[in-house]
Amino acid sequence: MSNCAIVGINWGDEGKGRMVDLISSDYDVVVRYQGGGNAGHTVINEYGKFALHLLPSGIFRKDVVSVIGNGVALDPESLYKEIEYVRSKGIELTPQNLKISSRASVLLPWHKELDCLEEQRLADKKYGSTKQGIAPFYSDKYQKKTALAGELFDKKAFFEHIEGIMEWKNLTIERVYGAAPTTREDIDNWYESYCVPLLPFITSLDDFYDEVKASGKNIMFEAQLGSLRDIDFGIHPYTTSSSTIAAYAPIGAGAPALKLDDIIGVVKAYSTCVGEGPFTSEWFGEEADKLREAGDEYGAKTGRPRRVGSFDVVATRYGVRVQGATAIALTKLDVLSYMDKIPVCTKYKVNGSLTDQFPFPSLLNSAEPVTEYLDGWREDITGVRRFEDLPKAAQDYVLYIEKQIGCHIKYVSVGPERDSIIIR
Ligand code: GDP
Repeated sequence: MSNCAIVGINWGDEGKGRMVDLISSDYDVVVRYQGGGNAGHTVINEYGKFALHLLPSGIFRKDVVSVIGNGVALDPESLYKEIEYVRSKGIELTPQNLKISSRASVLLPWHKELDCLEEQRLADKKYGSTKQGIAPFYSDKYQKKTALAGELFDKKAFFEHIEGIMEWKNLTIERVYGAAPTTREDIDNWYESYCVPLLPFITSLDDFYDEVKASGKNIMFEAQLGSLRDIDFGIHPYTTSSSTIAAYAPIGAGAPALKLDDIIGVVKAYSTCVGEGPFTSEWFGEEADKLREAGDEYGAKTGRPRRVGSFDVVATRYGVRVQGATAIALTKLDVLSYMDKIPVCTKYKVNGSLTDQFPFPSLLNSAEPVTEYLDGWREDITGVRRFEDLPKAAQDYVLYIEKQIGCHIKYVSVGPERDSIIIR
């Protein structure tokens, strides 16, 4: 049995979905273990192009069991709609190949509303939330003010449990934000429309993982976002509200005693960032627009233009360290093919001093990039499948990054399709 986590090293959107879709052929189980409907993992395969939010990116493999673990923010409305969409494209989803942990906490209808209300209140100081209710959900999870998925089976008891929470939440909605309260009728409609159809998929995972382990099957854990958005190790306060790092995978999956054998960190060949907060190697103006267009850098969930910049050695080395990555997948190398010289951020200047260490979050506001330029290759590389067939400058770019971040680059992705990959 071999367990592997696929995680983001930077701000997210590194191309984890395409890597899970590719590598999941070697795994029997693919588990989402944290985050929620704010994810947007893009997968392109024989069924079409998908932006997956809550479903694991292994759902396209017939023999793979997909699992939504207890660490995920289970949003019944988003998940129901996603299941319906994926089914309409010919993917079969049954209680045999999709399992939702009965211990997953449920994202309740007021969480999204509270997310929007708070971002509106913050106005120009907003965090850049995707407004999927993630921060209010995780706050309430740790205040024990949500319900578990397994409670949805008993409608009466579930309603008794959450009605008290609803009254408490309505105090905030009405008296802090002056908005309309959630009603029992709203909850009833939500339950019937979105929760009831999910019931067949909700199950205890205790025996499931025992059986997986006993039969020597392989598990892949799929993370959302990246190291720099992790609640403990990210750029506070511009983080998400869950743990995006590999070490949390067994816990959020529901198999806390499992050990990880491999941790594949996904890194983009340049940097992108969605939302607010420090982004030291950021570009602006025409150069930024060119890179954004070349990389089609628009949010999979929100359609927002992503902020773009040079590959950031300092942030990436830090990301590799907190993830404990054992190998790297470098994606979107093909996007850089239009450049004569490729800028790379190698160090930061913080308060007048040079550093190659990722600074404490509050110091990042004053960090400036130190840039070096590597040769470009100006050649289409999307058809290349062997490392030695890449132009010399492209090979050098990969080897330079490998040396700087101190981790073996095992995969080099040269296009969004499943087979656009070089394995070293
Ligand atoms: P994730 O959230 O980490 O799964 O990443 P996203 O799906 O948000 O962003 C990755 C985007 O890049 C998607 O549109 C992918 O189809 C695309 N993509 C992934 N790898 C490559 C690559 O090597 N080359 C190109 N051109 N696009 C890629």
